[in-house]
Amino acid sequence: MYDVNSTKAEEFINHEEILETIEYGRENAKNRELIKSIIEKARTLSGLSHKEAFVLLSCQEDDLNQEIFKLAKEIKYKLYGSRIVLFAPLYLSNYCVNGCVYCPYHYKNKKIARRKLTQEEIKKEVVALQDIGHKRLALELGEDPVRNPIEYVLESIKTIYSVHHKAGDIRRVNVNIAATTVENYEKLKDAGIGTYILFQETYHKENYELLHPTGPKHNYAYHTEAMDRAQLGGIDDVGCGVLFGLNNYKYDFIGLLMHAEHLEARFNVGPHTISVPRIRPADDINPKDFDNSINDEIFMKLVACIRVSVPYTGMIISTRESKKTREKVLDLGISQISGASKTTVGGYDEDIDSEGSDQFDIADNRTLDEIVSWLMDMGHIPSFCTACYREGRTGDRFMKLVKSGQIGNVCQPNAMMTLQEYLMDYASPETRKKGDAVIEKNLALILNERTKQRTVKWIEEIKQGKRDFRL
Ligand code: SF4
Ligand code: SF4
Repeated sequence: MYDVNSTKAEEFINHEEILETIEYGRENAKNRELIKSIIEKARTLSGLSHKEAFVLLSCQEDDLNQEIFKLAKEIKYKLYGSRIVLFAPLYLSNYCVNGCVYCPYHYKNKKIARRKLTQEEIKKEVVALQDIGHKRLALELGEDPVRNPIEYVLESIKTIYSVHHKAGDIRRVNVNIAATTVENYEKLKDAGIGTYILFQETYHKENYELLHPTGPKHNYAYHTEAMDRAQLGGIDDVGCGVLFGLNNYKYDFIGLLMHAEHLEARFNVGPHTISVPRIRPADDINPKDFDNSINDEIFMKLVACIRVSVPYTGMIISTRESKKTREKVLDLGISQISGASKTTVGGYDEDIDSEGSDQFDIADNRTLDEIVSWLMDMGHIPSFCTACYREGRTGDRFMKLVKSGQIGNVCQPNAMMTLQEYLMDYASPETRKKGDAVIEKNLALILNERTKQRTVKWIEEIKQGKRDFRL
């Protein structure tokens, strides 16, 4: 039974320590020797403490800031190579009993169209997503124990994995649902989910309670300790994040790193991913009402500092951000992006009425083909790989591979193979032509002769229609 008065969250997200860290960063913002020594430590890929990371975030020396950006890029390429993994969100229901003041799905909003997909509609959505080439989804639902019970989530996951349309299949379903019980996390694990994602929104307890005035989400401890319960329920890939703009970004940056430190210390596995959403306009929501918004410059620094501080963690940016902003941060450590996203319930299949059910306005409305082409223009390999999950490389097994620098040896060939699948099944002629050249160029860059020959062979086999590579 969960203790509703738990104070554990306030032990690992220590308010006083955060305030002291902010002060320490302010005092050392121009301490060149200290900053340089922290950059050197980050270069060893051993990660940084929240205190060290915050000194980098506070750095006011231009040349050293450039050094941090350069290092973030180096770390991303060293660990993950040039691949960028693609995914799409799938909204199942926007019924919600919570009162989050920054989200149009809050229960008091009577203007928004409320929708919940039936299993038949979910199948249609999945077919539409497969038809553009997606293999990896993130499920999104509001919290409503009556309308969106765990049984509905489990049934929906089963439905999604059962759909195989033409050459399509969904190979990894990540799940973003409200904080729940260990028993429910066990059920999600048994249903074969990939990452369990839950954004903290803000780590500042007092502001958290003001931003979540009503509903189960109001309980800061229950929400903040959710990742612990997920781990206890057997889900060893968890995805963290804050919604930048809700609270002072310095406070939340430190809180986020403290959370990662806590998970690592307790479970020997830090967050599998960290997302960096910023608040967006939506029905009933004006970002200007929130006075903690951050500009692109600060946003870039945040991304770079997270990258060098938790090098083993994947970093995600969604279509909340424009093409221009995504271009600015892709090279600073982002390893996953969403593409061709719909933030409505039923937005992918044209026959489903999704009108008026949006969670937020999308800033990047391009098609998946355009995104794939654009990534290649910037020197990245668009990847639809889900192999780690399918091969059981999760939790500490996955972390060990990243920390030892081995994961890139798997990511790079898998990126090429899944790109090859995409080019054959879904790409426009121009993208296909571009992709063939990208694959050829990157095959030549593989240094290990055995890996190169194996990848060439497998790509040939994919071209011949063989697809059982557990990608
Ligand atoms: Fe509901 Fe989540 Fe929106 Fe809050 S943020 S109102 S919990 S859907
Ligand atoms: Fe992700 Fe693993 Fe595939 Fe790399 S090999 S892209 S880490 S699933």
